[in-house]
Amino acid sequence: MKITGVKTYVLEGLLGNKAFGWSLWVTDRRQTAVCVVTTDEGIEGVGEAFFVGGPSTITAAMIQDGYAPLLIGADPFQSSVIWDFLYNRTRDQGQKGLPISALSAIDIALWDIKGKALGVPVYKLLGGAYRRRARVYATGLYEPQHVPSVKEALVAEALGYKKGGFSAMKLKVGYGIETDMEYVKAIREAIGDEITLMVDANHAYNAAEAVRLAQQMEAYNVYWLEEPVPPEDIDGYVEVKQKSSVLITGGECEYTRFGFRELITRRAVDILQPDLCAAGGYTEMMRIVALASAWNVPVIPHVWGTNIGLAAALQLFAVLPHFPERRFPAEPLFEYDRSPHPFRDKVTHEQFVMKDGYLDIPERPGLGVTLDMDYVTKNTIR
Ligand SMILES: [Mg+2]
Repeated sequence: MKITGVKTYVLEGLLGNKAFGWSLWVTDRRQTAVCVVTTDEGIEGVGEAFFVGGPSTITAAMIQDGYAPLLIGADPFQSSVIWDFLYNRTRDQGQKGLPISALSAIDIALWDIKGKALGVPVYKLLGGAYRRRARVYATGLYEPQHVPSVKEALVAEALGYKKGGFSAMKLKVGYGIETDMEYVKAIREAIGDEITLMVDANHAYNAAEAVRLAQQMEAYNVYWLEEPVPPEDIDGYVEVKQKSSVLITGGECEYTRFGFRELITRRAVDILQPDLCAAGGYTEMMRIVALASAWNVPVIPHVWGTNIGLAAALQLFAVLPHFPERRFPAEPLFEYDRSPHPFRDKVTHEQFVMKDGYLDIPERPGLGVTLDMDYVTKNTIR
């Protein structure tokens, strides 16, 4: 089998009065770059690149202008070799960030092709399923922009997740410790003690601030504090982790096994959160997971895309080992983004439906989704 082409589609949806904020900025739109790899056997693979900081036209250009010319004629079953070849071509200036997100989308598409060619879901190619369904947590509870009271809106949203069957949810923090604690307190009191509550600061704090926040949150049984400090501040992570009984997590802003090496070997986090659509696709994720397993650091991937990224992440989720293996192992939680997204569900024909707090892991070949090309071609902005 040979690769004959690579297409990219940049999709955008405006949020209107559903614009939302977090500790870094307010967004009025969702965007993504979708990559389709075609082959001489008529099998197509799809991938998605995670990028939150700017227009996805940049990642699409990286895929289209940077990698696509190097892919034509290659055999998708050479996916590890292709990964190493492409990485090496951009290594000098592209060890982190957008070049790796773009590479992730291509790698995911190659695994989709392999699965479709063999008629098996990707998880079977990755070594088999530890689990057939994923216990999800709701990612939401961002800062709404057009409401009379943010706190009241957050409480209402949290109660909605509880009513909808979620057993866990994640609140954005990082607005200043006083405001954060007001939100944590109000939500914990509203949802009760039986719901798992996590918080995510999106690296808004320095270590001293994060320690204060973590210690104040202990009384409200917060399960984890995500990205307390900037991703470059490994010493800050170590300090916060040592001084907090709340679990410290991070990794969505890190890339490749080389980037994760520091976080893992320095034991800077309690739970590692690489993103499949950013950290390097399946090929590199399996290397990161192997590295993490050698240090016995649990991996709970970050997930924040359309149904394409969601489907891809579910396949990976199936194969995550237990950290450690034991008679009654701890099961990871799957991040299920519930924040406003105008086209998350529209890009694929298949839909995901949560049942009893779980999502089934698709058994269809490849990622288990097919693109709705009518929607994608009509709504692409590049
Ligand atoms: Mg996060």
